[in-house]
Amino acid sequence: MSAREKKAIVIGAGIAGLAAAIRLLCKGYAVDIYEARSEPGGKLHGFHLGDFRFDAGPSLFTMPEQVTDLFRIAGKNPDDYFQYRKLEDSCTYFWSDGKRLTARSDPQAFAQQASETFGVPEKRIADYLAHARNLLATSGSIFLEKPLTKSATWIQTGVIKALWTLRAPDLLFSMDRLNRLRLEEPHLVQMFNRFATYNGSDPYRTPGIMAMIAALEHGQGTYFPGGGMVSITEALHRLLMDLGVRLHYNSQVDEILVEGGRAKGVRVGIEKFAADLVVSNMDIWYSYRRLLPGQKAPERILNQERSSSAMVFYWGMKSTFPELGLHNIFFSGNYPDEFRQIFQEGRLSEDPTVYINISSKEQAGDAPAGCENWFVMVNAPRHQGQDWEGLRGVIRKAIIHKLEMRMGRDIASEIIEEKVWDPPGIEADTWSYQGALYGNSSNNALAAFLRHPNMNGRIGGLMHVGGTVHPGGGIPLCLLSAKIATAAL
Ligand code: FAD
Repeated sequence: MSAREKKAIVIGAGIAGLAAAIRLLCKGYAVDIYEARSEPGGKLHGFHLGDFRFDAGPSLFTMPEQVTDLFRIAGKNPDDYFQYRKLEDSCTYFWSDGKRLTARSDPQAFAQQASETFGVPEKRIADYLAHARNLLATSGSIFLEKPLTKSATWIQTGVIKALWTLRAPDLLFSMDRLNRLRLEEPHLVQMFNRFATYNGSDPYRTPGIMAMIAALEHGQGTYFPGGGMVSITEALHRLLMDLGVRLHYNSQVDEILVEGGRAKGVRVGIEKFAADLVVSNMDIWYSYRRLLPGQKAPERILNQERSSSAMVFYWGMKSTFPELGLHNIFFSGNYPDEFRQIFQEGRLSEDPTVYINISSKEQAGDAPAGCENWFVMVNAPRHQGQDWEGLRGVIRKAIIHKLEMRMGRDIASEIIEEKVWDPPGIEADTWSYQGALYGNSSNNALAAFLRHPNMNGRIGGLMHVGGTVHPGGGIPLCLLSAKIATAAL
């Protein structure tokens, strides 16, 4: 049978589902995507609030080659579908003691400015970043680009190089301990601890090796997609249409049909659809609990601690704020306490770290003239039945108080449009168990090995892609999950 006659079904049009569908179409499969929502993108969707445009979820774009790769393998010119530009500044940081820094992306420029701002030797910062880049290039490429369950991954020469780059503290110390050891200066330690939140983890527990994440922002660089983050979804959607996908919206898959140990198709309501290959982009927890109820589930993986969630306020502001850039962080005065409350007590901090993304800084049309679109996010615990309605008011007050103190101007009266996305909302809208943004957390040294593999080892013809399986959450890793999954075909 030629591949063209083979049929694949993808469950979910999240970014990983879209990428998997593109790769399968390129391999000659006929592909149907069933999506529960009325639009593609999952967490990566956009919306309008009055005259303001917002991206709902992701705001930081790294590793753009993972997106453009999809156009290249389809024989298309990426520029015909997708535009993006590199940013010179990565983020503007505000510390509780009044210190402030607009961090340059370029590692050399950053080492110099951080040295001037914090009075530490430039070499210390440059060495730290060089080690992070080495880790990303060696260990990162194994953990992010290969299936960990295949023995071939572990007998390649890259493993030896990765082991050579690793130092004992990378594995044995927490990210925070390692950062204190290598950077010493408290502001810098807090800044580099923040990178644990890129996969929803706790810097006081995630292993030091995760310091490699810093090399994305201060090495490879950060980018802005023309049209906003949602343009990634739109571009992949357009490519899929050109490749002849069949996309079924408002079609929630209720079951993966399994016969004789093989996935044979899916059930949507009372209708059954046959396929040679099924790819689930649904959260791995829900994939087992809802779609495969009769199958043995990998309990150890499903019972891992979940990543953090988020409380997001989308605010249309009636003024502009020249002291802010595209990405801004207002740090908590007590970072260890904030993470203890989130991960161990299931609470929101009274002094949260506040992240503000303002896409209208890069793309004026996202807000009316003289206004700005603020995406205001605080890290939140996973949803375990907390009183989110009540918490919403409390945290809103805490955020506004903090911003007014740091910026010395009224914030509350500037808000003319508002919408909120909280952990139960994130769970309900995208089927993300407990509203976790990145599936399981990476709060222990074995976390990378306790992510579900992309090929289902027990059920033939079934693959899993997306932020809750290997290699992890975030746009680039979701795209890589689709690459690893389909590479085996
Ligand atoms: P999802 O986006 O979760 O989509 C899954 C899709 O599958 C949904 O459309 C859902 O409706 C559909 N679906 C599920 N079950 C079924 C079913 N049974 N039948 C049919 N359809 C189904 N990442 C970054 O890289 N940078 C960031 O700055 C960043 N910030 C974030 C901020 C927020 C507030 C959030 C929520 C996420 C953020 N992320 C960020 C993480 C990133 O958004 C996710 O890792 C990524 O988008 C997940 O993509 P996915 O393909 O796994 O699926």
